Amino acid sequence: MGSLKDELLKAGLKATQKPKAPNEREQIKKKQVTEAVIHQEQRNFCEECQLVRPDVELYYHRNPTTEAEWICVKCADQLKIADTFRQTAQSDTSIKKMFRREHGATRSPSDFKVQKFDKPKGPINGNR
Ligand SMILES: [Zn+2]
Repeated sequence: MGSLKDELLKAGLKATQKPKAPNEREQIKKKQVTEAVIHQEQRNFCEECQLVRPDVELYYHRNPTTEAEWICVKCADQLKIADTFRQTAQSDTSIKKMFRREHGATRSPSDFKVQKFDKPKGPINGNR
C-alpha cells in the first residue's frame, strides 16, 4: 500500500524535476527591467562636491574649471554657472518648488518640459 509519505515523495520529485529553462528566462527579463528603471532614477549625487544632495540638477555649462554636469545648487553657485545652463528640474528641491539659485536668476519650473532626465550623456570628455 502506497503510504502518504510515498505520495508526497513522488510529488516532491516531480516538482524538482521541472525544466529549469523557463525560470532562467524569467530572471533575465527581470534584470533587464531593473536596468531600464535605473536609467530613469532620480540623480542626487553632486559630481563636484561628491556628496548626495537634494538639489542636484544637470547643467550643460561651459565652465572650464569643472567637468561635473550633475551639480548641486551650492556648487553651481560657487562655480558661477548660470541657471540658464540647467537642463533638469528633477531634484527633490525642484519637485517641492524650493529650488533657488543664489547666482543669477532661477529659471521657472515650467521652463522644463522634461522633468525626468533619462538619457545620461556619454563619458565625460576630458578635452573640454
Ligand atoms: Zn556639490
